[in-house]
Amino acid sequence: MYDIVVVGGGVIGGMILRELTRYRLNVCLVEKENDVCMGQSKANSGIVHAGFDAQVGTLKAKFNVLGNRMMPKVAKELGVKYVNNGSLVVAFSDEEVKTLEQLKQRGEQNGVEGLEIIDRQKLAQIEPNISGKAVGALLAKSGGIICPYELTIAAIGNAMDNGAHLETNFEVVKIEGEYPEYLLFAADGRQITAKAVVNCAGINSQKIANLVGDEYFTVGGRRGEYMLLDRESGDLVNHTLFFTPTKLGKGILVSKTVDGNVILGPTAEDVDFNDTSTTSQGLNSVAEKAKAMCDNVPFYNVITSFSGVRAYCDRHDFIIEQSPQKRGFFHVAGIESPGLTSAPAIAEYVVNELIGGLFELKPNQNFNPNREPDYFFKNLTAEEKNKLIKSNPAYGKIVCRCEQITEGEIIRALTVNPKATDVDGVKRRTRAGMGRCQGGFCQPYVAEIIAKELGVCLCDVTKSGGESKLLTGESK
Ligand SMILES: Cc1cc2nc3c(=O)[nH]c(=O)nc-3n(C[C@H](O)[C@H](O)[C@H](O)COP(=O)(O)OP(=O)(O)OC[C@H]3O[C@@H](n4cnc5c(N)ncnc54)[C@H](O)[C@@H]3O)c2cc1C
Repeated sequence: MYDIVVVGGGVIGGMILRELTRYRLNVCLVEKENDVCMGQSKANSGIVHAGFDAQVGTLKAKFNVLGNRMMPKVAKELGVKYVNNGSLVVAFSDEEVKTLEQLKQRGEQNGVEGLEIIDRQKLAQIEPNISGKAVGALLAKSGGIICPYELTIAAIGNAMDNGAHLETNFEVVKIEGEYPEYLLFAADGRQITAKAVVNCAGINSQKIANLVGDEYFTVGGRRGEYMLLDRESGDLVNHTLFFTPTKLGKGILVSKTVDGNVILGPTAEDVDFNDTSTTSQGLNSVAEKAKAMCDNVPFYNVITSFSGVRAYCDRHDFIIEQSPQKRGFFHVAGIESPGLTSAPAIAEYVVNELIGGLFELKPNQNFNPNREPDYFFKNLTAEEKNKLIKSNPAYGKIVCRCEQITEGEIIRALTVNPKATDVDGVKRRTRAGMGRCQGGFCQPYVAEIIAKELGVCLCDVTKSGGESKLLTGESK
């Protein structure tokens, strides 16, 4: 029996799992998909928010500001790229400048440091492509960017290296028992027992709560559509640019990503939980708003579009608490934005304050907080590259030409925790297929490497688990 089972392999479940492995606890994460990071955590803006958005006194405000401060260290330990690029909320009228003053005040009450209102002249100096209609901005120096799936995968990998177990394809459909013996049933009949359970199931966190009779909150789905521009356009902006929020919401953002692309989006539309489609209407509205923010947006450089579904909660705040009726059953539910930013702080709180109330937290003397980055070859010096290729010739073969990813890195992604098993899993870990051609050249080679390394038939290699096979059969 496990001490604790975490349901859901997103950034929240992943960071909590890692935090648990700091202590001598027997822990497991169950994930319904064939890989981790398959929900909101894989498709979002990747912004490490400063913390001026959330209402004063909310859990969102508290964990956003704490998570923002923790992120540089966590990213360094996990070998994940993080850039402190700062963010700007841009005003287009005197009325909006007044809103900036309110945001600054709210941010300061939340504990955000380094907030400054800047005029048109300074704004144009630091953002040369800003629209001529912008009149000023709120500069938040602590704003940053991170790759959300790199962070999630690294956190879970680090937790596994420190002793945690992972069960994929484990969709929790029934829960019986109570503390200190919960029994979790998967859709395929597998069972797991644990003394305590942490519900981190994202948009399904209400469903998991319902399984133990908790019906006091609801979680809905709100889709956000994005466009991604090639790295060639990386100079369009320096900071993350937000519109000034209005009664209709925050609007879209224009930002650089940690890998040098430009991201435009997201829209906000209430949808069915699993509807991650993109629409011409949504993408057109993203394009119109991006044009209103910046001059010279090079739309000819759009390399892909995607969408993510936010888990928005009727409490309008994070739910982080023990079930009112089930001891040892914890909900970390309805974690919408700024959940990515808040994840390290939420994890620390859940383990110290909630789990700590139930278990004695004895330090795991073998805990190692550090993890090697998943891909690194292109950043090495020529001398380092030569040395690596001599020790392992697979690093001498570039498979993804756009992103300069080697066969060595792809093989590594199939062998280190949490192991990739399909083409998209390799893509999220290594960036093979994330460049301008979007896998047009490298996908067949990646599939061949997967088949060879995992010892499976090429016909059985999938794009993203389930029935998403790349080949339907042999032609010759
Ligand atoms: C469009 C968009 C933009 C965003 N932008 C930002 C941003 O810029 N900055 C920021 O800080 N935050 C942002 N967020 C919020 C952030 O992405 C989320 O708060 C965070 O990813 C939530 O993580 P999670 O682990 O709770 O959920 P998820 O990542 O959704 O993980 C839940 C996991 O549970 C699994 N699961 C579900 N049901 C079951 C079951 N029955 N059994 C087993 N497993 C199950 C799912 O497959 C999934 O892997 C954004 C979100 C969206 C959607």
